[in-house]
Amino acid sequence: MTAFEETTGVANMILLDNCDDKKLIENLKKRLQKNIIYTYIGEVLISVNPYKTLSICNEKLMLKYYNNNYVEDMPHIFAISAKVFKSLKEYRRDQCILISGESGSGKTEASKMVLQFIVKATHGDHIIQIIKDKLFVANSVLEAFGNAKTRNNDNSSRFGKYMDVQFNPMGYPIGGNILHYLLEKSRVVKQAHNERNYHIFYQLVNGADKWLAQLLEIDKDIDYLYLRTENNLTSFDDQIENEDTQKYKETLQALQVLEFDLEEKMDILKIVASVLHLGNIKVRRCGEVCKIENNSTIRIVCDLLGVPKDDLIFALTNKTIKAHGEVIRSHLDVEMSVFAKDALAKAIYSRLFEWLVTHINKTLKTIVGKKTGSENKIKSIGILDIYGFEILQNNGFEQFCINYCNEKLQKLFLDLTLKSEQEEYLNEGIEWTNVEYFDNGVICDMIEERHKGIISCLEDESLKQTDACNNAVLLNELARRFKDHKHFSCYQSIDSHKKIKTILPTEFVIVHFAGTVTYDASCFLEKNNDSLFGNLSHIMSNSTNNIIKSSFSNCQTPSNKIPETTINQFKRSLNKLMKTLTSKQSSYIRCIKPNDFKEPGEFDDEVVRNQVKYMGLIEILRIRKAGFAYRSEFQQFLARYKCLCPDTWPDWSRRYTAVAAVCRLIQSLGLGAQDYKIGKSKIMVKHPHTVFEIEKRFQV
Ligand code: ATP
Ligand code: MG
Repeated sequence: MTAFEETTGVANMILLDNCDDKKLIENLKKRLQKNIIYTYIGEVLISVNPYKTLSICNEKLMLKYYNNNYVEDMPHIFAISAKVFKSLKEYRRDQCILISGESGSGKTEASKMVLQFIVKATHGDHIIQIIKDKLFVANSVLEAFGNAKTRNNDNSSRFGKYMDVQFNPMGYPIGGNILHYLLEKSRVVKQAHNERNYHIFYQLVNGADKWLAQLLEIDKDIDYLYLRTENNLTSFDDQIENEDTQKYKETLQALQVLEFDLEEKMDILKIVASVLHLGNIKVRRCGEVCKIENNSTIRIVCDLLGVPKDDLIFALTNKTIKAHGEVIRSHLDVEMSVFAKDALAKAIYSRLFEWLVTHINKTLKTIVGKKTGSENKIKSIGILDIYGFEILQNNGFEQFCINYCNEKLQKLFLDLTLKSEQEEYLNEGIEWTNVEYFDNGVICDMIEERHKGIISCLEDESLKQTDACNNAVLLNELARRFKDHKHFSCYQSIDSHKKIKTILPTEFVIVHFAGTVTYDASCFLEKNNDSLFGNLSHIMSNSTNNIIKSSFSNCQTPSNKIPETTINQFKRSLNKLMKTLTSKQSSYIRCIKPNDFKEPGEFDDEVVRNQVKYMGLIEILRIRKAGFAYRSEFQQFLARYKCLCPDTWPDWSRRYTAVAAVCRLIQSLGLGAQDYKIGKSKIMVKHPHTVFEIEKRFQV
């Protein structure tokens, strides 16, 4: 290690002497103290959130990375972006960048930097410029409707996002497509202490001009229950109010760029306002039945949603079910009525979010259609910004879904990089000492195996128990199926310090690859079914608000088809995502939150240690250190470097076979036997430095 590296840390941690977490954390810490937030492990980029603005994101830097090859001693998001972009252009392979890390670690900021690079690095005509603008502002709309202030992050994404940017053969962006995963619906009606609802609610209340406020009947001085956190009245402080007003303008501007017309924009704002009013509907007991107290509020909701008032009042206070061909009506009690109202608010909002994404995708797609005839030549770069592994004080259905998603991503990572790396050495006939690592496939199977896994169990119980959910039955069934499984328990939890803890009868434990999580199953079935009372859906499907009408249109013809449960839908979309990602060449950015207090420059070893563990960084380091930094197929290697040796230039094939040509080239470049290995179809180079040295000869 050089004296410089002693104080600043190494840029690529495969250069560290030891593979332990202490060395790795120390290295990240040294670098953060010097305001260097990026470090590599092999080709995986580690990014530590500095919580302050550094001059690391400007056009000059972008250009520098664009014009240089992957610069080993200068890790950066732009370096990864440049590498990905070049692979797309030169080798015509679809690419993806997987960004992971826990809440507040900087995933979304990283994904925006990648997008910025792509947009800035490419030129193109007027039409291309339009698509770039759209790609950029799409994020603002998604953030307004899908992000919120949480304990961990003032701008926390409450959904998973996969954005695919499509390129024509010249490498210009010509379209895009966004997939979204599991918007956190419960936030619409309730938030934890000191957290907020989705940004758009505050933006609208603060930013709407007088005319609009009158039309939507909203007022800053009204206390909106859905904006009120536990023990906290709605608090609007001046500075935040100004920020929200400013952001409101940006959101409207973004909708404009994305070609939402006036009617659509009005429909969107009416829905947002209707949710606020719904939250203020009061229900009280009246003898045997319950009644809605504030007539004027329900009137506003109905005006905004374009549904008949009497119908909505009836549906919020009564329930009708069909049994044996007969319609049976029953009164709801106050609790059930409030439940129905909240369920409606969540359904309206989440369907609005879905509609927005669909609409954005439509406008991103038109350009592809117009500009290029041959769509098969289109290549794409996908950017995945998705929630990291979560262990909270209280872990429910949402954490189960999020952690299941992380198991799948970890498995994909292992399959794509670690496993394939080892297999590659084997295929190439290069000696390789096996590196042991934990293959989490066994946990994925336990969760998702058909007819056997936890999801199938949840699914069976959800279908059986449609009326009243009994989660104890679910737990019994889980206990029966998995009592002997090493990664499951219904009785106790053993933490990382081997301490045994008895758990509650409503809980179960999964030993995930990243840690042991105790889940509270008491709302699993309700959340999985997540159904609206049928008559509420039916009323919405006849709304005069076009967005509501189309979003609920599948409810119009009552069919015998059982609605898909949340977890099944999630499993299906996740497996589709995995298939997409597997078909692409992947690059990784792992984000780290250095402290729990959003404090600039502060580095808490313990907080980082947990993340290093959850992300399996030591495992990556061990495998990378044992392996080769660079590899290339003979033909590819020769295509690039044949000009550096007179014997292989211009046409090596007249004198040599590919392997002989590579050997001749290597010999002429003066590489030592310890620097490389020749396999059956590839050359592997041990150290990245060797490749940089070769690259430098082009500049001579
Ligand atoms: P979540 O999972 O909650 O969505 P996240 O990983 O997407 O979290 P971000 O929203 O990207 O986290 O980052 C949180 C905050 O940290 C940002 O709002 C910003 O203030 C700060 N931050 C993140 N990355 C950087 C960076 N590269 N430079 C400066 N500040 C940053
Ligand atoms: Mg985010």
